[in-house]
Amino acid sequence: MRILVTGGAGYIGSHAVRALSRAGHQPVVLDNLVYGHDDIARQVLGVPLIEGQVGDRPLLDTVLQGNHPALQGTGLEGRPIEAVLHFAAYAYVGESVKDPARYYRNNLGDTLTLLEALVAPERGGNPIPIVFSSTCATYGVPQQVPITEDHPQAPINPYGRSKWMVEQLLHDFSYAYGLPCVIFRYFNAAGADPEGDLGEDHDPETHLIPRVLDVMSGREPYLQIFGDDYPTPDGTCIRDYIHVCDLADAHVLGLERLLRLRERQEETRSPLIYNLGNGTGYSVQQVIEAAKAVTGRGLLAHVARRREGDPAQLVASAERARQDLAWRPRYPDLATILEHAWAWHQHRHGV
Ligand code: UDP
Repeated sequence: MRILVTGGAGYIGSHAVRALSRAGHQPVVLDNLVYGHDDIARQVLGVPLIEGQVGDRPLLDTVLQGNHPALQGTGLEGRPIEAVLHFAAYAYVGESVKDPARYYRNNLGDTLTLLEALVAPERGGNPIPIVFSSTCATYGVPQQVPITEDHPQAPINPYGRSKWMVEQLLHDFSYAYGLPCVIFRYFNAAGADPEGDLGEDHDPETHLIPRVLDVMSGREPYLQIFGDDYPTPDGTCIRDYIHVCDLADAHVLGLERLLRLRERQEETRSPLIYNLGNGTGYSVQQVIEAAKAVTGRGLLAHVARRREGDPAQLVASAERARQDLAWRPRYPDLATILEHAWAWHQHRHGV
């Protein structure tokens, strides 16, 4: 199938592109390259890359019709896109608090343009299916863990709210226009492709695992542990780390389920919603200890103030994805996630 992957030059999107190619699909990437990497899309993934903004409707229409010059000479030329995986978004919580306009414009406004294009009259009443990347940040501070999909959503920062708002758009577009859609709410994406040539490379890097590895490889002098007075066994925050390749696999399964429903002409007038996590939580301290065991290196760590907006514990129940999609994470254990992240880290940074 011909699939548009927005944000396909980013961390999770690039792994999804590889999963799609391996499953026999034909992905094309649309990315504004603000945080994505064109060397990854072009050289590592070897798929067409279109640099541009999801909110550029004329560009979108050209791509959706297969008429963009970047598609010339590929199997996508002149043939309409059949589904969209929508990863493109800004995802720094702190930045979203300081500059919410940028987050709502990019994550919400541009997505509205994309959805309009997917349901446009020229589709003849056959909207193009979409798989949307949402987040456990839409739950806000959890009332209980593990978190199921029907847990109330009360995001506590503009990033989480922008994702939550898109979820509302998807509900309404699905009901009104029959837009087939899947919403995935990711927990903590981590790890890297086991081949070692694809992984996480954020600038600035804010995530725990790459920061731990930065210190262990000498790229950073020390790690800050954001708070050790949380109501958890060791006082540090607990998160559910899920391997990025397992997230990518879920997208292929989610997409295939949408298409099966459509073939059977089963009307889906509301989005299919799935949490994606392992259902096991690890504290910051436990991540540090596990990373020491994997890399054989130590690190300097200081306890710092709590980071604003960090809930003590976020752990998924992903039973629904297991049941409906037969999704089985291939790399559920933290040591494997860290091994893959470390191999990538050494490859990318030459350390
Ligand atoms: N964290 C930390 N030091 C860091 C980065 C993160 O102590 O340098 C903590 C953070 O407070 C959170 C956990 O590690 O409890 C995971 O943070 P991350 O930014 O990786 O993901 P988030 O849960 O915010 O999406």
